[in-house]
Amino acid sequence: MAIEYSRRVARIPVYPAASAYNLPEEVAHLASNESPDPPLPAVVEAMDRVLRGLNRYPDPKGSALRRALSERYGVPSERIALGNGSCDTLLALGEALLEPGAELVYAWPSFSVYPHLEAASGATGIRVPLNERDEHDLEAMLTQITAATRLVIVNNPNNPTGTALPLAQIADFVASVPRHVCVLLDEAYIEFSALDDPDASIELLREHPNLILLRTFSKIYGLAGLRVGFALCGSPEPVQAVDVIRQPFFCSAVAQAAAVEALRHQDAVTERVERAIVARVTIAEGLRELGIESAESQANFIWFGLPLPDGADAAEFEARVVRELAERGVLVRAGGALGRDGWLRVSFGRPDENARFLNELGEILRA
Ligand SMILES: *Cc1c(COP(=O)(O)O)cnc(C)c1O
Repeated sequence: MAIEYSRRVARIPVYPAASAYNLPEEVAHLASNESPDPPLPAVVEAMDRVLRGLNRYPDPKGSALRRALSERYGVPSERIALGNGSCDTLLALGEALLEPGAELVYAWPSFSVYPHLEAASGATGIRVPLNERDEHDLEAMLTQITAATRLVIVNNPNNPTGTALPLAQIADFVASVPRHVCVLLDEAYIEFSALDDPDASIELLREHPNLILLRTFSKIYGLAGLRVGFALCGSPEPVQAVDVIRQPFFCSAVAQAAAVEALRHQDAVTERVERAIVARVTIAEGLRELGIESAESQANFIWFGLPLPDGADAAEFEARVVRELAERGVLVRAGGALGRDGWLRVSFGRPDENARFLNELGEILRA
């Protein structure tokens, strides 16, 4: 007889990982919103120093990293949760808050990990469509909140669309959500947004004990492979809850040391943001020259609909363009798996990679 797995396993959607292709030698990785820059030499050195002590378990409280985060972001340590990537904190929070009968509200299309939360917990997920500008429709989201709602997620800027809302609108929304509901503001890309000071949302934590800001070292800090993220919380309760739910040693010693060092290099953050903004303008302009209007991006990636030839099927056409780009060494993400057929999400790479993407896409569409 076959082994019987829990029903959760069948229910949880498989994360749409970037596909593998028959690739040429030089590949532009524009599919996963990573930083094109390798880790800073000082960060590599910090990791190297830790390697010789790896016979010991890491600090389960991540005290040094939480202290460094507390100094950088002005939030007390006891209101900072760490994670093996921010998704780890997100999933732990889902486990801590949700159960059958509970409700979860989020926008769609948005981050492909959110549907895991309802599937893993048996809670009811309510997806609220983005508005016509592909932004969160906060008013519509408010109307979906009931006595059963435990968690509302706002992804700002939103993955996969790149669109962002100004903080003033987010602040009004958070103020309108009843206190019994946890509001998770997923700010994985907030540093790339030019709408507001990326640190301005932290002020909201003073007034809203039910608010959590989810942030990561995977994007602007360029450490996606290391798996370390954090949550800045309006009260110590969510920190205690996610720490109870998980195994004690969820964040490796190497990750903790690297993250502490990365925080010391805010000049690199500024530089990366500046380069992303240049890429954003260049790629939006290049797409426009191909007759493509993209969604207004405030992130390190861009989202756009492909010009569909007459009679073509959106899903098939999208798959063909993604495959042909891959064969030319440019990896991008197909929109179908992210919530919309016929669209692409393209991360910003180095300037030469961005130019190569525009050039190859142009050739494919003209063929
Ligand atoms: C990339 C991303 C994250 C970060 O995930 P990590 O687990 O920290 O690598 C979180 N939220 C969104 C919306 C993302 O796109």
